[in-house]
Amino acid sequence: MELELQPLNLPGIDATRRPLVIAGPCSAESEEQVLTTALQLAANGIRIMRAGIWKPRTKPGGFEGVGEAGLPWLRRVHEECGMLTATEVANATHVKACLDYGIDILWIGARTSANPFAMQEIADALQGHDVPVLVKNPVNPDLELWIGALQRLNNAGIQRLAAIHRGFSSYDKRIYRNPPMWHIPIELRRRIPSLPILCDPSHIGGRRELVAPLCQQAMDLGFDGLIVESHCQPDCAWSDAKQQVTPDILEFILEKLTIRNDLSTTESLEALRRQIDEVDNQLLELLATRMRISREIGEYKKEHNMTVVQTMRYTEILEKRGAQGALNGMTSSFIRDIFEHIHEESVAQQIEIMNK
Ligand code: PEP
Ligand code: MN
Repeated sequence: MELELQPLNLPGIDATRRPLVIAGPCSAESEEQVLTTALQLAANGIRIMRAGIWKPRTKPGGFEGVGEAGLPWLRRVHEECGMLTATEVANATHVKACLDYGIDILWIGARTSANPFAMQEIADALQGHDVPVLVKNPVNPDLELWIGALQRLNNAGIQRLAAIHRGFSSYDKRIYRNPPMWHIPIELRRRIPSLPILCDPSHIGGRRELVAPLCQQAMDLGFDGLIVESHCQPDCAWSDAKQQVTPDILEFILEKLTIRNDLSTTESLEALRRQIDEVDNQLLELLATRMRISREIGEYKKEHNMTVVQTMRYTEILEKRGAQGALNGMTSSFIRDIFEHIHEESVAQQIEIMNK
């Protein structure tokens, strides 16, 4: 299904000039923190301020947001700093409160876009209102669910829509807090070319050092904008302290960005190469997982006095994988070669365990 979209049409802002930037603290904490951060951001040229009023937290007992009490603070930001304001809504009550206080832009969080019941409730509450809504990707890497969330809003008449790519939840948190899996937002762009996509480097990286490189990567991939967490005193933030940057650091990061507006061949070549890098990373992680399992098998064989190489099993693997390769458009000899190498390394690792 096609979405019926209109340009974001944000008053006083040319939303087509890349990057469209939204910045502000993870959470609104106090009137003073909100206003101080807003003034610093505005002085650095930021025109749209984000701040979470209701915070979805993984575990109970943490800071769950100041709630409705924070909405007048955002109203002051709008009136006194001339900025547009944005906050997260997760249910119909939030939507109603934001509309009452004239919040300019709403966003849907990653835990909410993963939940069709919540999405439908929000869409129903928005029926008849014309407000821009940004939809974060669901926590799980499911493009259909992301598009489904956008469709529910669109069916309710919301046409000023954009997507936010904030990475995907993973069990193994290594480099990223939420690995980007860039091929998913790239596929979203291919499926719905007129939908603006913003990148949220703060929640992808989870660490402030990663904000700058992720912003650059998003620009290189042709994203339309950035939503970055920025706090007047990041280390004292009540949520997501490690990933927030000061408004001055943010200005520096934005200034250093190279914006390539020529979306011609080199740009798409670059995008394809990033996809290759992403797939190679996944291949390496999968190989490492396979070796871990191999070593566990090695421990088992040692305990049960079994030999390392079980010829029948090896032949079976080579034959099966060769046939699978042929079904996937590769020569079976190529796949057999690869699996011979993988097997060789597995054997070497198991022998090491036997000799321990
Ligand atoms: C946030 O933007 O502060 C937030 C809670 O993000 P996400 O929904 O992406 O986790
Ligand atoms: Mn946050």
